[in-house]
Amino acid sequence: MSLPEFNEQVAELEKLRQEVARLKEEKERLALETAVHKAILETNADTLLSGLEQFKLIADNVPAQVWTADAEGSVDYYNKRYFEYSGLTSEESIGWGWQPMLHPDDLQRTIENWTRSVKKGAPYEIQYRFKRASDGAFRWHLGKAIPLKDSNGKVIKWFGTNMDIHEQKVAEKQKDEFLSIASHELKTPLTSVKAFLQLGQKMIAPDTKAYSFVSKASSQLIRLESLISDLLDVSKINAGKMVYNLEPFEFGAALREAVESVQQANEKHQIIIEHNDDVVYNGDRLRIEQVINNFLVNAIKYSPDADKIVVRSEVQQNNIVVSVQDFGIGIAAENLTRLFDRYYRVDNTSMRFQGLGLGIFISSEIIKRHNGSFWIESEPGKGSTFFFLLPISGKHELIDLETDNQTFYKGNFIEMKYVPEQQWLDVNWLGYQNLESVQKGCMIMLDLLQKNNCSKVLNDNTHVVGNWSEAADWGGEYWFPAMQDAGLKHFAWIYSLSTFSRMSAHKSIDITMGKVTAQFFTEIEEARRWLSEAD
Ligand code: ADP
Repeated sequence: MSLPEFNEQVAELEKLRQEVARLKEEKERLALETAVHKAILETNADTLLSGLEQFKLIADNVPAQVWTADAEGSVDYYNKRYFEYSGLTSEESIGWGWQPMLHPDDLQRTIENWTRSVKKGAPYEIQYRFKRASDGAFRWHLGKAIPLKDSNGKVIKWFGTNMDIHEQKVAEKQKDEFLSIASHELKTPLTSVKAFLQLGQKMIAPDTKAYSFVSKASSQLIRLESLISDLLDVSKINAGKMVYNLEPFEFGAALREAVESVQQANEKHQIIIEHNDDVVYNGDRLRIEQVINNFLVNAIKYSPDADKIVVRSEVQQNNIVVSVQDFGIGIAAENLTRLFDRYYRVDNTSMRFQGLGLGIFISSEIIKRHNGSFWIESEPGKGSTFFFLLPISGKHELIDLETDNQTFYKGNFIEMKYVPEQQWLDVNWLGYQNLESVQKGCMIMLDLLQKNNCSKVLNDNTHVVGNWSEAADWGGEYWFPAMQDAGLKHFAWIYSLSTFSRMSAHKSIDITMGKVTAQFFTEIEEARRWLSEAD
């Protein structure tokens, strides 16, 4: 073998050696990877199993019925407690097999609620009666479920519980019944004590000590009487037994009378009637006076350092709008909507001021039964203004003024037009809104959006007043998704000055998800800029 041949062979051998070394390295790397992979798999399987076992162990030992469901809402697991209570087998109850166990009066509502939550991926909460296998009794339960979502926000699993709340419900009912009976029973002796005191007062000389004692007793008795009648009203409202006597009356005169009677009993504050339109209104005069009285008494009670209250009553857009303004402690925004709940009192006021927390609940019921609405503007430390609105014709009138059914609509509550240069729908809500007006306006908006193949809306709420909170859920749950399906992509929402309207706006948007980008603005120009840049 010649030297060059020998060198060639050595080079070839070296190449082979390197190839063997590379393959060996590769093999080792692969082996290592396989081992790691296997280890990961085994670890996962172990933790998954123990996680599942742990979950089942906990679930079987809590007092509630626990279940899980897949992304479509079909139940795929129940804990032991559920099977004990329902008497069903696993095969019978999996999927939607729970339905026959529900009270027939609650079934439809529950299915609708659950389907809606599953569709929206939103938490689920409901109360229903659920049949107990041991005695066939339908017991009240609180059903709750939360979705578990992946990183893209897609629901992968539902975790739910059913809590037996039957005893609580029964106790609540007994409490309501007790309140109803107690307030009735207390009213009779109170009326006769009041009559005897009045008689006694007439027999005593006015400048004596005895006279002043009797006067004080009388005024305390009036307070007691008003507390008892609030309790009585609440039990009537709960039982759906509040009777309204509707008759035409002079609204301005009723307002003056209510103001005078509160003024007489309160010297420190001066109640100023700044405006009082004369109009005949068909309603329950005593109940409406009760609302005004409640607003005035609260205004005085919650403004201990102020000395005036301002009352206005104006006819606007065929509505009577009444406001009572005080310069007192005010209410923080987060407490505003809760005021409508019965027995609710703002925490920091409940210690300082006496009261049962029933007045606003009763007032809002009275206003609702007159097809009116009720809202509050307030700033802590500056004061509050309580408003109510009563439609003079008995209902909110929505008048169509002009439309081409294609590019524009004009009504007494909303105006909108398609702007071809900007390719957006310019919407302007006008004045007082309620569920009906919001629904009608929204449906016209949907129609024009579709007809113009438009993806942007300039939704101007600057001129909205009042309270349309009952429409917020509907807007979020049904209308917004429909707008999205119709091609909506950008929604610029210009705030109203009204706090209640702003809160409702957030509620409608908060509960919506999906591909629409919505943005709130205080300035219309800013909203226009944002919308024209959006694509
Ligand atoms: P009550 O005055 O008997 O507590 P209401 O139902 O009339 O019951 O009022 C509920 C709560 O609303 C009150 O406890 C108070 O916290 C708050 N509130 C009512 N009116 C005013 C007001 N004018 N200013 C500040 N807070 C008020």
